Amino acid sequence: MLYAELLGDFFRLTGELQRRSAAFLAHHFQIHPTHAAPPARSERFHPCFFRREPPGIALIFVPELLAVIALFLRVQPPQKRFPMPLDSLPDAVHFGNVHAHPNDQEASTGPRSFRFHAMQPWPTCSDYTGSVGMPTNRIKTRRRAARNAATRAPAAGGWRERKDGALRILEASALARIPWLIHGFSTRPGGVSDLAGEKVLNLGFARWDRKENVLENRRRFQSAIDARDMMLCGLSQIHSDVVHVFEARPAVPCRGDASATNRADLLLAVQTADCVPILFVDSKNRTVAAVHAGWRGTLGRIVTKTIGKMQMQFGTKPADLLAAIGPSIGGCCYEVGTEVAAEFRSQFPNASEWFDELRTGDEPNPLQWLNMSPPGHQPAPKNVLLDLRKANRAQLLEAGLLPQNISVSDLCTACRRDLLFSYRKDAGTTGRLMSVIGLRA
Ligand SMILES: [Zn+2]
Repeated sequence: MLYAELLGDFFRLTGELQRRSAAFLAHHFQIHPTHAAPPARSERFHPCFFRREPPGIALIFVPELLAVIALFLRVQPPQKRFPMPLDSLPDAVHFGNVHAHPNDQEASTGPRSFRFHAMQPWPTCSDYTGSVGMPTNRIKTRRRAARNAATRAPAAGGWRERKDGALRILEASALARIPWLIHGFSTRPGGVSDLAGEKVLNLGFARWDRKENVLENRRRFQSAIDARDMMLCGLSQIHSDVVHVFEARPAVPCRGDASATNRADLLLAVQTADCVPILFVDSKNRTVAAVHAGWRGTLGRIVTKTIGKMQMQFGTKPADLLAAIGPSIGGCCYEVGTEVAAEFRSQFPNASEWFDELRTGDEPNPLQWLNMSPPGHQPAPKNVLLDLRKANRAQLLEAGLLPQNISVSDLCTACRRDLLFSYRKDAGTTGRLMSVIGLRA
């Protein structure tokens, strides 16, 4: 208001003075129309100084000065006007949730997450860091909750435990109910292998363990799940998306990360120590499959490809499939670089739901303008946490599996080193868990 009044006064004054100085100039030219010689120095200053009247043209700077002062006094700097959180960008990525899985009430990837995006369209305060307007303590609470779930009792939520001496085998209740099916997820205790003074059930050949120990452990494991006479069919795992279909047991393990069969007496096996083991059974066609999915296999959609192979070879319908996602490293502990997040984001429209924070490392550093660090000297972006189980479950749902037909173990290999093997937590020197499935003759 004050500025408006002042400006009004000044414009009026300026106009008046300009008119008056124009009159002076006219007068000047009229009185002295012809000068043979150039005016003396004192005469050139004549209108400004000798008549003691300021020229109108100088006053134009006054409102400009006021405008500059007003700019400095503004309460809100202009850059606060257009914050846009990265996980709510209105791109095709987030509209991908709209049509997905209308019956999936439990899924984190279903309509519930769409509702979340729809109800909170634009947070009023955010920045470009990718922490997407969520306070740090909320992220910490979420991680703590995930960790609590990861240490729950092994037999909770659709899972049960079979004990045989010191051995503890995990089973998905839905699969254990099928009379013609054999399956099981091994755990750490109860073997003959010696790992730093501890007797463990290592089921993979390793440099630190003797071959006969591993063979004895495998014998005990098969005995515990009542599969003594079945032929164990392992793979030479290479973190790929290669799927094999077995008619008979191959002479040497095939290179690949998934296998399927409809033959009885073949016990399909995958080995893990953090990666995700997934077992499938088609209850209509009596077909089984076992999958090993690390981040590379998950990125390569190995579960989707396995289901595709079962459809082609055995006429499996995804709606008839039961799946069990076994113990693996959880979203509480599995840190990956932001370049992995970027790869997932480029491949999957709902990838942001599998990470604790959506950051790909490409976001501009908001502190750059405050600390004035030169380009290339910005702080390195932090790692992000990836939930591989969630990612694989989402792929299963997308392939057409029913949510009630998917059992997911909450156990985290890194949180439960008393019960499981974790390659990361044990710094590489650790045993291997084995997940097996087969048809009883
Ligand atoms: Zn964990």
